[in-house]
Amino acid sequence: MSKKFDLIVIGGGSGGIAHARRAAEYGANVAVIEYGPLGGTCVNVGCVPKKVMWYTASHMYHLEQAANYGFDVTVNGHDWAAVKQRRDAYVKRLNGIYEANLDNSGVTYVAGAASFVDSHTLAVGGGQYIAERIVIATGGRPAVPAIPGAELGITSDGFFELEDRPGRVLVAGSGYIAVELAGVLHGLGSDVQVVVRKDAIIREFDTMLGEQLMEAMEKDGIEIETRVVPAAVEKTPDGLVLTADDGRSFGPVDCILWAIGRSPNTAGLALEKGGVTMDERGFIPTDKYQQTNVEHIFALGDVTGRAALTPVAIAAGRRLADRQYGGMDGRHLEYDLIPTVIFSHPPIGTVGLSESNARAEFGDSVKVYTTGFTPMYYALGDKKQRSVMKLITAGDDEKIVGCHVIGDGADEMLQGFAVAIRMGATKADFDDTIAIHPTNAEEFVTMR
Ligand code: FAD
Ligand code: NDP
Repeated sequence: MSKKFDLIVIGGGSGGIAHARRAAEYGANVAVIEYGPLGGTCVNVGCVPKKVMWYTASHMYHLEQAANYGFDVTVNGHDWAAVKQRRDAYVKRLNGIYEANLDNSGVTYVAGAASFVDSHTLAVGGGQYIAERIVIATGGRPAVPAIPGAELGITSDGFFELEDRPGRVLVAGSGYIAVELAGVLHGLGSDVQVVVRKDAIIREFDTMLGEQLMEAMEKDGIEIETRVVPAAVEKTPDGLVLTADDGRSFGPVDCILWAIGRSPNTAGLALEKGGVTMDERGFIPTDKYQQTNVEHIFALGDVTGRAALTPVAIAAGRRLADRQYGGMDGRHLEYDLIPTVIFSHPPIGTVGLSESNARAEFGDSVKVYTTGFTPMYYALGDKKQRSVMKLITAGDDEKIVGCHVIGDGADEMLQGFAVAIRMGATKADFDDTIAIHPTNAEEFVTMR
């Protein structure tokens, strides 16, 4: 027998749960179908366990500074397995909280894999589920290169399964995950080499950020090799060896970590039966209202291939529910001015346009303000980890169109600036704001 709902959401991750709960709170009869643990990528193999590991490595970076502040500290070692145990227990608690939240909001939770039978009907196990509207929020999974021996490496999913810290690691990739996990592993004592295909890391952002991060990582002892296109991986008696397409080889190492992007979870959905179109990479295109090519089927979050970030998936999901069940006509997510933090060591915060994109859009009316300094935190020791900031303005009123920072505290600094920039702040507004002293963030309001 089939069960009927107003709305069925496929995927109990960040976006799916946010949408389902908001819709149910407006009175819709909603089901969420999820085949894995509730919470999706972010909770289980993404933001949450990653941030725990970032905090773990950050402790090591702070311990190195302790002697400068008079502490006589000897670090006798680090128990990776103990952190993993606590981290796993924390994630499990969160899975339970997500299930309780669905229940509290009156959402029906169906455990299993969904696939389309027709545009209103989904099959899960032996059952059928029918809905007036269907939302696809199935997220993605790590990509692995199609080269011989790729299966000898792990991805970010495998990183979170590691029971011990590998001693020698090669990270292939140049985006968020590559630099974040390289920083964690290096901070905790691994020998880390990063191989990137082009000449730079985190290339989608303002070039200042990639240049500064590369310099900081190399200064810390992470080796970065450029122009390396992976061609094969081999297991040798000494460890894994990666060969590039130009014949260079890297390793041997204990672990190769692929961090080369993510692919959408669309293959098992039988989308053709629902009439839903994908692009050539398998992502589901939508209009600004998250609507697919089928009028009553919507998609949101990573599966749409746009700004793959948890708060983006949540915001898209909540706005869609506000519009469809909360009477807020026209409500939708604007995909510009999305602030984001890269939890590298040091961290990066960025919102708005890079300098090159600003110049392409606003031409000669662009002005750029930059500053670089060593935070006071490093005043008493030999290590000098610089911070660098950049403000990009456009037009006669010098409206701020880009704000970028790398350095300690960048992760917590940016949220408030993102609010100001979204409200249309100008350079004069920044200049008129009283600085908070002594902080790193104050440099943003004292730039000349
Ligand atoms: P997901 O959270 O992936 O949820 C999709 C769900 O759908 C999954 O639970 C999956 O099991 C389920 N599913 C798939 N197919 C089916 C099916 N056929 N039937 C039933 N269920 C199905 N973002 C940030 O903002 N900050 C960070 O610090 C951050 N760190 C990250 C670190 C890592 C290592 C990774 C991998 C990602 C990180 N992200 C971060 C990105 C963030 O995790 C994603 O953008 C976010 O989880 C996307 O949410 P979503 O709802 O679109 O998909
Ligand atoms: P990214 O898209 O950030 O970076 C992957 C990079 O790997 C590409 O940009 C590309 O860079 C390079 N690459 C692609 N294919 C290959 C290949 N075959 N061989 C070698 N290099 C290749 O992906 P990630 O996997 O790092 O992360 C996925 C997404 O998850 C991120 O985009 C982000 O949206 C989200 N995320 C967010 C985090 C946060 O908010 N802090 C943390 C982690 C993930 P190039 O062209 O320069 O070679």
